Amino acid sequence: MFQDFAVDFRIEYDGSERAERDVVLAYDGKTALCSVSDGELRLPRICDFDRTISAVHAFRAGGERFLLSLGEKPEAEGFEYQDIDRIKTVSPGLRQFAAVTGYHYYRFHMENRFCGKCGGKTVHRPEKRCMICTRCGNEIFPKISPAVVVGVTDDRTDSIILTKYAGGSYRKYALVAGFAEMGETAEQAARREVMEETGIEITELKYFGSQPWGFSQNMLIGFFAKAKGSRRIVMDQEELSEAKWVRRDELEAKENSISLTNEMIWAFKCGKV
Ligand SMILES: [Zn+2]
Repeated sequence: MFQDFAVDFRIEYDGSERAERDVVLAYDGKTALCSVSDGELRLPRICDFDRTISAVHAFRAGGERFLLSLGEKPEAEGFEYQDIDRIKTVSPGLRQFAAVTGYHYYRFHMENRFCGKCGGKTVHRPEKRCMICTRCGNEIFPKISPAVVVGVTDDRTDSIILTKYAGGSYRKYALVAGFAEMGETAEQAARREVMEETGIEITELKYFGSQPWGFSQNMLIGFFAKAKGSRRIVMDQEELSEAKWVRRDELEAKENSISLTNEMIWAFKCGKV
């Protein structure tokens, strides 16, 4: 998963002077300032801009410091604004993780320019990682939505349930997934989502791992579980276009992908689960 490349990730605020080699995360709408060649992602550094840009500390990882640009769409020679989804197609690595996590921080800033309590204008307080209302003092912190991903397996047929979403642009196979609702534990959300999407009851729910997913401001929580009772899938036709059992030896997955979902499919394919 891409966060595995972010060695020594530290989100704590660092107000020290910016350095020429600091990496700049800059966005405009759904695009990120970057360059991609041979599947490798490059991000600009302070020294790549020909003027002083407005940027705040975002995080440190892999021995580098990453800043978030909050100014007017800065331009840097050799880099261009590219669709954020393009980041999904580059080689997994620290820069991929940084670009996606920076996008989460950028969206937080852009979507909270006004106070939800009083409608007043807010200002960014990077040292507290919040937006603060200039009228009533309300503090707004980044939204992180918990969502579950569930690998439902069947010992009898040595299979796992793969799904395809009905809406959106994502067309690859995925696992059962959905958001935790108010009042639910992650485990309850997992049981409910599997029942809603496939009609299958599960047992032996086991935590696998988690993943920050800045594309959509989520925290993904992965579980494996075994099917209990009938294995007949009754698919939720509004959410999914396909849901089926796939045998372990027929699974297609690759190692070192960006996502938790792929990591889980890979783990099952390799017999680790
Ligand atoms: Zn306010």
